[in-house]
Amino acid sequence: MADGFTTTRSVPMPVRWGEKRYHSLDYALKSQFGEKVYRIALNGGMTCPNRDGKIGRGGCIFCSGMGSGDFAGSASFSICEQLAAGKAALQAKRPVHSYIAYFQAFTNTYAPVEYLEKIFTEAILDPDVQVLAVATRPDCLSHETVELLRRLNQIKPVWIELGLQTIHPQTARYIRRGYPLEVFDDAVVRLKAAGIQVITHVILFLPGETEAQMLKTIDYLNCNPIDGIKLQLLHILKGTDLARDYARSPFHIPDMDEYIRCIGNCIAHLRPDIVIHRLTGDGPKDLLIEPQWTGAKRTVLNHIHQYLKKQDIWQGKEYYG
Ligand code: SF4
Repeated sequence: MADGFTTTRSVPMPVRWGEKRYHSLDYALKSQFGEKVYRIALNGGMTCPNRDGKIGRGGCIFCSGMGSGDFAGSASFSICEQLAAGKAALQAKRPVHSYIAYFQAFTNTYAPVEYLEKIFTEAILDPDVQVLAVATRPDCLSHETVELLRRLNQIKPVWIELGLQTIHPQTARYIRRGYPLEVFDDAVVRLKAAGIQVITHVILFLPGETEAQMLKTIDYLNCNPIDGIKLQLLHILKGTDLARDYARSPFHIPDMDEYIRCIGNCIAHLRPDIVIHRLTGDGPKDLLIEPQWTGAKRTVLNHIHQYLKKQDIWQGKEYYG
């Protein structure tokens, strides 16, 4: 092109992410709120249409009995009580006073909108809560729910976390995700039109997926107006159908080096404005069958950081948007 701007130039190493080579959530939160903000996992007492029979009965093949909310509070307590308990637990370790109210367990928009309004308002009005974060499925976002989220977003930032996991239909069928890719695309468009931040959950090393396929998922998301991403290595948890399949016919589980190489590639391909909320999983130790090495989360993160530096990789280095 005459102006020298071509689509074949990668993104230069920016200096704006602090000491990290990627756009970390920690950095984004400190930039926005001027301090570290801590997540409190909440349980709104909802279930999931992929478990109660509306869409399916078994749930996603990797999902634990706690609906991927193994660290969330107990639904037998009110949201205020769960927040108080979460704050007390965090404050026992360090002096903190800024929080993300994170509705984590199961599908957190799978309830009448009046109930959602009650529990989300309870959380967002807590003066120490800076952000309302809600994990859900893209097929559980009615017009009324998005409108509620839009109103709440006027009070404090609202983040919606969508469990996509993969763009590939064959894998999506195997993991029993229960909705096609177009439903995700439509939800992102509607949430963004309502001014809401969208975070997408992606699982790496799903059975049968090659690294090229994983990078296709990243490339696809680069073309979507998402704000954040959670990258997580597949965990095989006790009691899941995935664990049953693995016992019958073990599939490939990467070791730490292979995972780090792959995550380095994903980071290099990822659009630089997308905030990385997670680079490794932290599944419940008592349920984790494989990969056992992920239990040492701090070690894994340190190795990722060392690898990025050694290979001179940064977020967007291979992004040609
Ligand atoms: S949508 Fe979430 S809660 Fe529901 S089965 Fe899948 S992982 Fe579990």
